[in-house]
Amino acid sequence: MIPYGRQDIQQADIDAVMAVLQSDFLTQGPVVPRFEQAVADKVGARHALAVNSATSALHVACLALGLGEGDWLWTSPITFVASANCGLYCGAKVDFVDIDPRTYNLCPRALEAKLEQAERAGRLPKVVVAVHLCGQPCDIQAIHALGQRYGFRVIEDASHAIGGQYQGEYIGSGRYSDITVFSFHPVKIITTAEGGMALTNDDALASRMDLLRSHGITRDPALMTHETDGPWYYQQVELGFNYRMTELQAALGLSQLERLDDYVARRNALAACYDDRLAALPVTTPWQHPDSYSGRHLYVIRLQLDQIGATHRQAFEALREQGIGVNLHYIPVHTQPYYRELGFTTGDFPASQAYYAEAISLPLYPTMTYAQQDEVLAALRSALV
Ligand SMILES: *Cc1c(COP(=O)(O)O)cnc(C)c1O
Repeated sequence: MIPYGRQDIQQADIDAVMAVLQSDFLTQGPVVPRFEQAVADKVGARHALAVNSATSALHVACLALGLGEGDWLWTSPITFVASANCGLYCGAKVDFVDIDPRTYNLCPRALEAKLEQAERAGRLPKVVVAVHLCGQPCDIQAIHALGQRYGFRVIEDASHAIGGQYQGEYIGSGRYSDITVFSFHPVKIITTAEGGMALTNDDALASRMDLLRSHGITRDPALMTHETDGPWYYQQVELGFNYRMTELQAALGLSQLERLDDYVARRNALAACYDDRLAALPVTTPWQHPDSYSGRHLYVIRLQLDQIGATHRQAFEALREQGIGVNLHYIPVHTQPYYRELGFTTGDFPASQAYYAEAISLPLYPTMTYAQQDEVLAALRSALV
């Protein structure tokens, strides 16, 4: 089976992890801060906070922005459930904004229209989570401008997008957002097994997220609300979690980070090859915004169903039967039974639903060979006729 994505582990990664195993610190040592500094330097952010998953990063990001009961978080329906669940963790309500039919990212025009309505109804969002689907950046400048006008904060869910660029700057620079989140799950662009990171240029948000990831406990007298009892003293100043990344994970991440640009370049080369070779088939290839350089986490095609002799499901099954590990990213979040319970229905976001009816993720990962790509293309040809 050719999987839709997989990690690349090299000897340097193994050596880096082994060195930590033989060192004094397995957690809370020097490697996590080194990894954080390296990512912050790479993407041009002031602060980077490593955590045990992107889901945790989204949670502490929402809390740091003050999201809570009575507030609204908005995001795109075409994302992993974590982009929405982080709002529910905080006791906030979640709503969605339909996608742009060309980029599959949250549509700024749909956002503006929904904001106008929400303003009249007194239900403006406090936080918008902008997801860079497949690695292609959202129109984050437009979303940020709407945030300035309507008073919401912006989190970039860049789980797919580390190493990508927007307007010539790395995703994570935070020029148009409050916080950016990366995922280091093995199918993502670089991995720490499980792991994530929250980046920000705001000192107060960084300090808040730092506390929240480690029990809300501090040893810094400047952050304490009461006097210290002595040199052993630590204080819990708010209700935090244990979302810490281990030293082993950080060592793996630091080693992987050295190959980030190569990985993204290789993903883009494979994607360009798919683009060329799919041109003759009844599928829509991913449109790319000229101002962006995608991290290319996923390569999603849309079937032109009126031109092929198979349904979406039949084509998907035919590919799987031929050993092609295709996938579907994503089932619109609002149609999950859990979200239906909250009142959403299938027809709520038509562009997302149309996408879902046609989308298939083809295999794409940096160690994929052109011979494997040939296999995918041959299987696709046979599945579509
Ligand atoms: C993978 C992913 C997440 C969650 O990442 P974890 O590190 O697995 O918690 C969140 N959002 C998006 C868009 C993702 O693809």
